[in-house]
Amino acid sequence: MSGTIQIEKHFNASQASPLKTIVGMDLGTTHSLVAIVENSSSRILPTREGHDLLPSIVSLASDDAERVTGYAARARRSHASNRTHTLASVKRLMGRTIAELPADSRFPFRIRDGKGGIEVELGGTFYSPVEVSSWILSELKKSAEAQLGFPVQNAVITVPAYFDDTQRQATRAAARLAGLRPIRILNEPTAAALAYGSGKAGKAQNERVAVYDLGGGTFDVSILQIQDGLFEVLSTRGDTQLGGDDLDRALAEVMVSEIRATFGAFDDTQWEQVLEHSEQVRKTLSGNGTQGAALPESVEVAIPMDCSTSASQTYRRVFRRDEVDALLRPWIERTRKICSDALADAGIAADQLDEVLMVGGTTRMPLVREVAESIFGKKPNTSLDPDRVVALGAAVQGDLLAGNNPDVLLLDVVPLTLGMETYGGVFHPLIPRNSKIPTVATEAFTTYVDKQTGVEIHVLQGERDLVAENRSLGKFTLKGIPPQPAGQPRIEVAFLVDADGILQVSAKDLATGNSQAVEIKPSLGLTDQVVETMVQESLDHAFKDLAARSGIEQINKAKSVYAHVQNHWKEAEQFWTENKFSPQEWDHLNAAYRKVGGILEASSHPAGDSPELDTAIKELNAASTRLAELLVTQALNG
Ligand code: ADP
Ligand code: MG
Repeated sequence: MSGTIQIEKHFNASQASPLKTIVGMDLGTTHSLVAIVENSSSRILPTREGHDLLPSIVSLASDDAERVTGYAARARRSHASNRTHTLASVKRLMGRTIAELPADSRFPFRIRDGKGGIEVELGGTFYSPVEVSSWILSELKKSAEAQLGFPVQNAVITVPAYFDDTQRQATRAAARLAGLRPIRILNEPTAAALAYGSGKAGKAQNERVAVYDLGGGTFDVSILQIQDGLFEVLSTRGDTQLGGDDLDRALAEVMVSEIRATFGAFDDTQWEQVLEHSEQVRKTLSGNGTQGAALPESVEVAIPMDCSTSASQTYRRVFRRDEVDALLRPWIERTRKICSDALADAGIAADQLDEVLMVGGTTRMPLVREVAESIFGKKPNTSLDPDRVVALGAAVQGDLLAGNNPDVLLLDVVPLTLGMETYGGVFHPLIPRNSKIPTVATEAFTTYVDKQTGVEIHVLQGERDLVAENRSLGKFTLKGIPPQPAGQPRIEVAFLVDADGILQVSAKDLATGNSQAVEIKPSLGLTDQVVETMVQESLDHAFKDLAARSGIEQINKAKSVYAHVQNHWKEAEQFWTENKFSPQEWDHLNAAYRKVGGILEASSHPAGDSPELDTAIKELNAASTRLAELLVTQALNG
């Protein structure tokens, strides 16, 4: 596909030095990895400890101030004396407050709410998850530098598709803190599809792929469409509180209650140790990741009890596969509805999928593969190592961004509708849910009080009609509007969602040119639960709301889509003369633009919904995507 976003524009011109190496980094809940593309194939860069995987664990030895990460930190974790000196799974806390964590959340370290969200204690000091993540990224950076023999700064860093704006911002901040330049924040499932070679020549020209990612802390499923080298996330769903950790905990709880029953007590300081054993049970039952090996049907656990004095005080237990499967199946089954919702969002049936890709270490479990197969009615592709595939794909993306293969473009979507408050507490959507990013929307507003010299821009996210029912992302005020009668001033508000899914909002007084802009960094994160509830509520209220609004709304929508194109028609023509549109794209845009214009002129107030207008709006939306991309590129370009 020739029409692609000029991704090079993400670089700062001053850094256009020798070769731009852009590594891929998978900052995982459980493990982190760094990879690079060399001679057009991607490979993992081993850590300084000599492993592919870096456990996302940080530890401080109680007797010295030195911080260690990775397996060294992991080894210390199970020692009771290091309990307040080890941090793990901190990714789950990124961009969160305590109130937002599920009620049964359990962390083997202390947490508290700080100014910027949760803070975690390590050796008597509280740190933000951003700082902790930066130590992990910094270790990856050092590992890559040791392997490559030159300084590494540019990185593509992956996040779960469900990460909201706050969490993406937090991830970027962690990268910067680690001395990295986060060139792109990439969704993990998209990275996985890239690693699997989707979009490459030789593959089907139009592929639909489901990526089923069950890692240590999160579950994500995404439905991607890959057409002519163009990647599009059709839908994405997930649960940020479902992963191997939960399975370990469920199994550990069984062990603990048996220990209590047998020995009369359980020493809480052994919890981590019991967790390690549960994980070992799961891993052994799934062959420890060795492909093709015969799988054991049972595994024996032996845990010496700290409190005991004699060697006979050991908890011994044989776990059979069927028993473990029965215990863990309900957790895995939770992915079923999430997957069918994702398919429904994407508007496709399971049998239309070309492939189901398995990602995340937990998908090594035969039980997980079986459930995934039953959900999608298709054998999942497990040919790549599920815990390396994301990093490998991030490296592929880094390579693309470095300009080595400009023929692939990634598109993502906005998870919830973005808009602003208008008079009377009404939510005014500017960027609809599931819009492809990057995207821009601009709209003109005016004042409603005479001599008003300032307007407050209240930015919201959600699916409901009223401000109060949506989520507030932030507010700012545009001041210095010359006093005029109500309705006179023209304030242009622009929403821009960049390629990383980060929202920038600006307001401009068209008369004075005075403007104000903010990058929205909501102080609180958005949990899946919240997204889920918001979408559900809007569906529940849909009928009531619809009756009142649909006709007017449709016209307003048509006007806004039309105005958007109209406002940028000059630029569009300019782009056309610069050959930035293909003739088909240009014809499509012209036809769709005229069509909506014609309908709007013919009937200013049609009664109720008009299917014809609906189709015309959709056409214009589709036809103007390319224009939006070009405008964003131009905007990023300054
Ligand atoms: P994350 O992306 O959350 O960091 P990973 O993809 O590294 O997660 O997956 C980590 C999870 O995978 C852990 O819960 C670990 O127990 C699990 N895991 C790794 N190998 C296996 C295996 N062979 N069998 C079962 N689970 C495994
Ligand atoms: Mg992962």
